[in-house]
Amino acid sequence: MTAPTPLIAGNWKMNGGSASLSEAKAVAAGAGKGAARVALCPPATLIAQMAWALRDSSVLVGGQDCRAEASGAFTGDVAAEMLADAGAKLVILGHSERRAGYGESDALVAAKVEAALRARLEPIVCVGETLEQRKAGDALSVVTGQVRGSLPAALAGKPFAVAYEPVWAIGTGLTPTTAEIEETHRAIRATLAEMFGEAGRVVPILYGGSVKPSNAAEILHAAEVGGALVGGASLKAEDFLGIVDAL
Ligand code: PEP
Repeated sequence: MTAPTPLIAGNWKMNGGSASLSEAKAVAAGAGKGAARVALCPPATLIAQMAWALRDSSVLVGGQDCRAEASGAFTGDVAAEMLADAGAKLVILGHSERRAGYGESDALVAAKVEAALRARLEPIVCVGETLEQRKAGDALSVVTGQVRGSLPAALAGKPFAVAYEPVWAIGTGLTPTTAEIEETHRAIRATLAEMFGEAGRVVPILYGGSVKPSNAAEILHAAEVGGALVGGASLKAEDFLGIVDAL
């Protein structure tokens, strides 16, 4: 089995309007020469415009969440098929802001992953412990438990990524030590191998949480780190490209 192709994905969260497409175009102009696949996940309102703006580039466009159902009376929600119809190729699922803010369980995340697969979207499934869980020595069991609970068997043979995002590192400027990242990524890798056999060895395991140009090289070159999920630093093309170029 060959090593996973790294993936660097930007999560714009609830930021950006059509004026921000210039940043996406600048990312497209500067990315695509390196070893990584590069993706931007804007708010749902921007997916179609961004997919069109980046149609001639190698930069992929993704969603930030989807509903598990394909259609129905779910005011305000977006189905995986709708993301795909708008031009998305990937979707972030189980982000801690959704797990914490909307009470999303592992079982719901797994159902959303199945919906994404039906729509031929590549899921990026997020896992990560809180600071209390890390301080209690539970980080590895929490994270591997989320991996087992959030990844359905239907993923076997399909492209997907796992993003390890410690909740306490998101948007805080704090990051785990490189040794802590490597230990957690190794535990995730072992769990993926148990669940998916050899195929589990080529799933990219992204790190997310306060990645910026100044710490990207050390994080991206750590053992079992197969890319990054980037929040704040993905909003400015210069910063995001600084991370892409660090690989
Ligand atoms: C995220 O929200 O997925 C994230 C990693 O955010 P930040 O890079 O801003 O910490």
